[in-house]
Amino acid sequence: ALMITDECINCDVCEPECPNGAIYMGPEIYQIDPDKCTECVGHHDEPQCVQVCPVSCIPRDPSRPETHAQLFAKYLRLQDAD
Ligand code: SF4
Ligand code: SF4
Repeated sequence: ALMITDECINCDVCEPECPNGAIYMGPEIYQIDPDKCTECVGHHDEPQCVQVCPVSCIPRDPSRPETHAQLFAKYLRLQDAD
C-alpha cells in the first residue's frame, strides 16, 4: 500500500482519482486505507494518486510492503466485496 506523508497540502485532487475509494480526509491531512490500496494494481499501470499529487507526498508505506501478486489478490478480494 501507499501512504500520504505530512507534506500533504489537502488539495483534494487525489481522492476522486482512486479506483478503490481508499483515500479519505483524516483529522489533519488526507490518508490512505491500506486495506483498500492496491497501488492501483488491477486498474491502472501507475498509481493514479501519485500521478496527480502536486507535492509528491505519496510513497510506498514501509510498514506495508506487498508484492505485485499480493496487491492483485487484494484487488480480487475488493471486487468480490462489491
Ligand atoms: Fe488509490 Fe491507487 Fe493511490 Fe492506492 S495507489 S490510494 S489504489 S489511487
Ligand atoms: Fe494531499 Fe497530494 Fe492528495 Fe493533494 S494530491 S490531497 S497534496 S496527497
